[in-house]
Amino acid sequence: MRLMIIGAPGAGKGTQAAILSKKLGIPHISTGDIFRINIKNETPLGQLAKQYIDNGALVPDEVTIGIVKGRLTEPDCGNGFILDGFPRTIPQAESLDSMLREMDQKLDKVLNIVVDDDVIIRRLTGRRVCPECNAIYHISTSEKAREGVCESCSAKLIQREDDREETVINRLKTYHIQTEPLISYYKGKGILSEVHGQCLVEDTTAEVNKELGLKE
Ligand code: AMP
Repeated sequence: MRLMIIGAPGAGKGTQAAILSKKLGIPHISTGDIFRINIKNETPLGQLAKQYIDNGALVPDEVTIGIVKGRLTEPDCGNGFILDGFPRTIPQAESLDSMLREMDQKLDKVLNIVVDDDVIIRRLTGRRVCPECNAIYHISTSEKAREGVCESCSAKLIQREDDREETVINRLKTYHIQTEPLISYYKGKGILSEVHGQCLVEDTTAEVNKELGLKE
């Protein structure tokens, strides 16, 4: 299955993509994760991407498109893939169309996870991550996260640079201006389905399964 998950930052795209990837045995391709790994490893790509990511802006299309093009031609994508966070602009979507045409492939479904902006702001600004073991917490559900300590390895938790409130607000603005037009783009192709991302993760997963005709 060739799938794409779209939605605002913090809508839960990564969470649902990871669940589906495990269930279907196809790779989860997250451009955000690719950039973060490069930032951590201080590669030239990471240094370039960081300037945009820390401001809530998008990494330039030509850079991002090149990365996805390389990734989609790797052998593990032969039976399908789940795109998470790509495309984020109409030019990226058009490039993806040509990449897939060249490979004689097409997208089966685009899932749009719908969440209100105020919920996104609370979700992202309250998120804390462990720099040691990568565990993710939320201050509304974890006492330890409020104290700033990792429950698993006791490391000091951090807030992702791009989860700071002013950056989250910029990320949402960027989403509404540059990414939201993709909803009409894929509606026009007749492959868009909407799921609610506001409540429990498992409720969204159940809706995703229903849209894709998958068993629980
Ligand atoms: P994410 O983890 O998907 O929210 O991505 C984190 C950040 O990486 C975004 O806020 C952008 O700055 C950058 N990014 C991720 N995917 C893309 C993309 N398709 N195009 C441009 N920038 C991206």
